[in-house]
Formats: sequence, structure tokens, C-alpha cells
Amino acid sequence: MNLLPIPAFSDNYIWILHHRQQAIVVDPGEAQPVLQALDRLGLTLQAILITHHHGDHTDGVAPLCQATQAVVYGPARESMPAGTVALRGGDAFSALGVSWRVIDVPGHTAGHIAYYGEQPDQAPLLFCGDTLFSGGCGRLFEGTPAQMQASLDTLAALPDDTRVCCAHEYTLSNLKFACAVEPGNTALLQYQSLCQDLRARHQPTLPSRIGHERDINPFLRTRVPAVVAAAQAHAGTPIDRCDPVAVLAQLREWKNIF
Ligand code: ZN
Ligand code: FE
Repeated sequence: MNLLPIPAFSDNYIWILHHRQQAIVVDPGEAQPVLQALDRLGLTLQAILITHHHGDHTDGVAPLCQATQAVVYGPARESMPAGTVALRGGDAFSALGVSWRVIDVPGHTAGHIAYYGEQPDQAPLLFCGDTLFSGGCGRLFEGTPAQMQASLDTLAALPDDTRVCCAHEYTLSNLKFACAVEPGNTALLQYQSLCQDLRARHQPTLPSRIGHERDINPFLRTRVPAVVAAAQAHAGTPIDRCDPVAVLAQLREWKNIF
């Protein structure tokens, strides 16, 4: 099984997973780079997985469907291209010999879903669209902080070695913010220099791992005293340390203007 991030637009990744000349693609915002990769690697596109309705994740679907026989999967609660197999949290299906479980992750959009794939002898895969990024999370365009907190809690509970395949290369700017929140987090500082190195060589910082994100991503650390204290200092008002939703809301607003 091979996993490949295809760069698109300025900072999107379209993930391709392939095995024995069969491929699936996640969130194709454009078709051209996908068709080129399929051609170069001699792959047949079996399925397209969509996490949410934004154009930078879906605009390539129609041209890909014209060029291939791919089955399209997407969230039931969002407007999707005609013919999309509508999925809800808890649904399961198999593609490429992997059994995929659908997880509801509202917050960035109201009906956003993520795909969690397990297969024997390999670390699990998570395609989380614009919900979880390395070192950060998506903007709250349609959902509430409470929804995003619940979605991130669900993702954080996945096995440590889960490969986190995010839809954007936002890692360095996220880590700059994360360091402002938690300047004393040594794992974070080490990861930042590793990622700076990767980006200097034009390499992706992804996939990340869930266990690692729990150590360095402030949005998965809304119950950590240092993170609560930083959110509170930014808010300028006391935050109940037992209220991770209030901490997340504050972090998200701070990041928006950072
Ligand atoms: Zn989006
Ligand atoms: Fe996006």
C-alpha cells in the first residue's frame, strides 16, 4: 500500500492511496495533478473520498468522474456532486482492501466527515480534511467550538500510530502559534525544527501521527494547565480550567488574529 500527497493550489494536499495498480483519492480540489499522477504510476482510480463541501476539496470530482469509473463517497449532510454515496458517522465501506469507518467531525463545516482506515500489519490511516491539521485545527466556518472540541476529542482517541493525512500544508504557521501558546513544550520545539528542515527541502511535513499531535497540538491540549493558562492570559478573563470548550474557543480566536 502506497500513500502519496499530491500538492495542489498553494497549500492543499490531495492524498492518493494505491495498491496493485488500484487507487483511491481524497478531496481532489483539482483533477489535473491527479490524472497526471494516475497516468505516471499506471493506476486505475477506484474511489474518490470527500470530507466536506469546500471547492478546494471537490472541484476536481466532476472531471475525474468523466475520465474514470470511480465511485464517489461524501458526507450525507452536505451538498455533494450528483451520484455521491452519502455517508454518516458510523458508516463503513471497503475500498482498496481497506475497511473504512466514517467519523462525524463537525466544526469547520456542519457536515464534515473523516475517514479512518484499518488494514492488517499497517498503521491506521486518517483522512481528516480541514478538521485536524498538524499543530492546529480548521477554522470554525459553520460549527461551534463545542462541536470542534468533540470532533477533536474523537480523533485524539484514535490509536497513537494513526497516520494523520491533513488536507493542507499549514504545519509551520500552526507551529509558530503553538510555540506562542506553549513556549516550554520541548517536544513542540524539536518538532518545529524538524518541520522547518523538511519545508526548506520542499518536503511535506505530513502525514503526522495522532500520538504525536496529542503532544504538540494546542487544540488537542485544551486540558493541559499551560495551555489553559495561555488561553486565559490572551482572553484577559478567567477561564474555568475544566472547560476545554472555552479554552478551544479562545485559542481559535487568538489564532485567527495571530
Ligand atoms: Zn475547507
Ligand atoms: Fe481546505
